[in-house]
Amino acid sequence: MSNNNNNKALYLTDYNANDKPWDDHRGECDDVGGLYAAAADFERYAVRMADCSCLLRFGWSNNAETGETRLRLREAIFCRVRNCPVCQWRRSLMWQARFYQSLPKIVEVYPSARWVFLTLTIRNCEISELGSTLNAMNIAFKKMTKRKEFKPVLGWIRTVEVTRGKDGSAHPHFHTLMMVSPSWFKRDYVKHSRWISIWQECLRVSYEPNVDIRPVKTKKFDEERFESITTALQGVVAETLKYAVKPSDMTKDSSWFLELTRQTFKRRFVATGGILKNVLKLEEESDADLALADNVPDGEADDGSRLAFAWESTERHYKRSPKQDKQSENK
Ligand SMILES: [Zn+2]
Repeated sequence: MSNNNNNKALYLTDYNANDKPWDDHRGECDDVGGLYAAAADFERYAVRMADCSCLLRFGWSNNAETGETRLRLREAIFCRVRNCPVCQWRRSLMWQARFYQSLPKIVEVYPSARWVFLTLTIRNCEISELGSTLNAMNIAFKKMTKRKEFKPVLGWIRTVEVTRGKDGSAHPHFHTLMMVSPSWFKRDYVKHSRWISIWQECLRVSYEPNVDIRPVKTKKFDEERFESITTALQGVVAETLKYAVKPSDMTKDSSWFLELTRQTFKRRFVATGGILKNVLKLEEESDADLALADNVPDGEADDGSRLAFAWESTERHYKRSPKQDKQSENK
């Protein structure tokens, strides 16, 4: 929909159908906030989540090259509760954007490096054992990084995901994106079965844990190498830097989810190492960072307009709220 005929547009999705994820995630935020509201020890999370991204201010952006005009989010305020579905979605987009921003430089310095996606699991545990299980996994991972088989790893990003087992157990696992020296595939090649034993030894368990190791297929060096690496990495980067807990798992079983919240209190779910140590800038997370997370405003002019959309819980939609429009202070 264009700038000029928006009189009838009521909802954010009438302006831009691509903004539907806002309605979806903000709706999930209400659902998860509702679970916290019903638990005395987490009411404060519910209060913060109720205020999360209640008002979004978008600006019209003009792409000089294509002549296309579209709304881009410019301002919002976020709650930063760890399991807030909106915040974890924005954080995931922000981290992905930062990763891709750093990538050209990394590829320039390490043109022959390759990428490997490693998933490390452990047997499901009781949800009440999640904290101690994650401790054990962290120790095991640290041990693994010191093994000689890990030597060709130049840098890595590791995230935690916890899914809910059908029986109400917890399934914590690590997603690890590793940038490796080309020798990883030649003289340092380690078979999948060997990775299972290594992870088993590091975990000090008596069974063979599931380990999945997947090289990312990138083309041989050519002038489009950077493009091809970015394309090839898209799937694994999204998989590594996604949510830690699926919102549908949060709402499936409230006692499971509340116990998960207790078990993961103040725990870091993202770790980075080697030359990828600072690519995500984990400490930097302002409202603007989260708001602009998926913006690629290169060559796009911000005209300073600010159209407000307010969250309507009962309708589960962001609705146009002209009263709260304003002009950008920067303009
Ligand atoms: Zn939030």
